[in-house]
Amino acid sequence: MAKKTKKKKVAIYIRVSTVEQSENDFSSLDGQESQCKAWINNRNQIESKDYEIHEIYKDMKSGKDLKRPGIKRLQKDAKDGEFDLLVVTKLDRVSRSLHDFLKLVSELDEHGVNIAVVTQQIDTSTPAGKALQRLLLVFAEFERDMNSQRTKEKMLESAKQGRWQGGYPPLGYDVGDKKVLQINEKEAEEVKEVYNRYFELKSSTKVAQSLNKDGYTTKDWVTSKGEPRGGDKYESRQILRILKSQVYLGKIEHNDDVFEGKHDPIIEQETFDKAQEVLESNRIKPKKYDKTDTPAVLTSVAECGLCDSSLTTTSTKKSSGKKYYYYKCLKKNREGNTKGHAPKPLSVPSLDNFVFNTFKLLFEEPEILKAVKKRSKFEGESQIEKLEKKIKRLNQQIKSTSKDITKTKKLLTKDAGDRSEEILLEQLENLALKKEEHEDELEFCTSEKKRLSDQKTIDTKSYQKILKHFIEEWENGDPDKREDHIKALVRRVTSNVDRDKTGMIEVEYIADKKLEAEWPKIEKCESGSEKSLPVRTSSFNGSPGRIRTYDRSVNSRLLCR
Ligand SMILES: [Zn+2]
Repeated sequence: MAKKTKKKKVAIYIRVSTVEQSENDFSSLDGQESQCKAWINNRNQIESKDYEIHEIYKDMKSGKDLKRPGIKRLQKDAKDGEFDLLVVTKLDRVSRSLHDFLKLVSELDEHGVNIAVVTQQIDTSTPAGKALQRLLLVFAEFERDMNSQRTKEKMLESAKQGRWQGGYPPLGYDVGDKKVLQINEKEAEEVKEVYNRYFELKSSTKVAQSLNKDGYTTKDWVTSKGEPRGGDKYESRQILRILKSQVYLGKIEHNDDVFEGKHDPIIEQETFDKAQEVLESNRIKPKKYDKTDTPAVLTSVAECGLCDSSLTTTSTKKSSGKKYYYYKCLKKNREGNTKGHAPKPLSVPSLDNFVFNTFKLLFEEPEILKAVKKRSKFEGESQIEKLEKKIKRLNQQIKSTSKDITKTKKLLTKDAGDRSEEILLEQLENLALKKEEHEDELEFCTSEKKRLSDQKTIDTKSYQKILKHFIEEWENGDPDKREDHIKALVRRVTSNVDRDKTGMIEVEYIADKKLEAEWPKIEKCESGSEKSLPVRTSSFNGSPGRIRTYDRSVNSRLLCR
């Protein structure tokens, strides 16, 4: 291995929300800073790294998005090549959103910056570390869902009291004191206009079109952080929301419950009921794909490989009355088969399952599991040994520093002789500082040792637990959740399957630009060219025909199977 000659610049990022800062010492800014510093010291001393702290970036804001001054500065400095490694205590310090986190990681990666997560032992410089990190993030989302219970309770409480629960207020209202909705006269007229036009046109799409034609836009709103929202063209779903919302009857809806609101209604009950009737009668011809019926989760990422159109969902009804859903090329749906373009529609459950199975394969990759085991062994056992040695050494140092302090104090109380009192005082101060530093480090090492001992045996287990969670979530989970996972993990699902049932299904996972550049090399491991390896559609039914990821170690395995 080449010996490092240059000092590695390390950036530390710490963040608290204002609530956390007051609530919990452990996650306080100081707590995070000293954890990160101790980790860096530890690496330098135990692993003979040559890390040097470049800067500490701080934010006192929620982690729900990346719009934070500290993060912005960090992004800029990473771009300017000012540091090589980012150290954080936990993933959620960087972002609570899986999507944002992955975005940032790949951005940093582009600039050659890796991330180290002190308490979660993640090192993104390895492909396995990357895959694991992604999985942990999925897991973190589960955890957060549970944590959000408290927020949900708060929102329910607010709804019960008839107050607006926060966020984008409905057209027709502004949020007033104590979150009570106040009628916005101009917008209230617009709400009535929506109802009138709907009674006339009897179609939400047509209402949206006619409103757009007359220059109406969706509600303008500025978030508490000063970010403008809305002011867009109307789409039918926004019209439907206005028609279905009981907020216009003076009520507050929370999930499936409706509470008496503290605000005035804009629409009369009679008008509302009439609108519901029209909506209902419109609903009888569900020719279009019904999402709640058979969830198709891939629509946002699925593409036709023959023409680059996206795939839409269609359904056909068999003589038995049973309905079948398909992903179908949008272009074909419009134009029918044309010369050189005859893509085969794929059944929704089959393609969904196919992608799910590639997930399973990816995460069951021996390469990834092996890395987890290896980590728990190496980083666990050998780290613990090193830490024990260090703890011993630190204890000795603290003891001897204490002795020195006592000695110096004695000298101070006695006649200092030829030593000036000033020198002694300075010495005392230095000793105290040294002792404090050692004690801090001892504390970190001790907790680190405990954590590693706890983790040593459960690492593989917790990995499997995460995997199980993930699989369960997919198998029983609601389509929205699945769609979230798809968006976070999958860049694209491309179907090249044509009428002759030949052609590949490709699943591309989101990874980093750097690995992407290596893609041609990866492809070589396949025997023969892409075109000479057609896969019958039946072979993707249940088991994958072909998986394309940008993660090299995973790729070579999956593609060479
Ligand atoms: Zn097509």
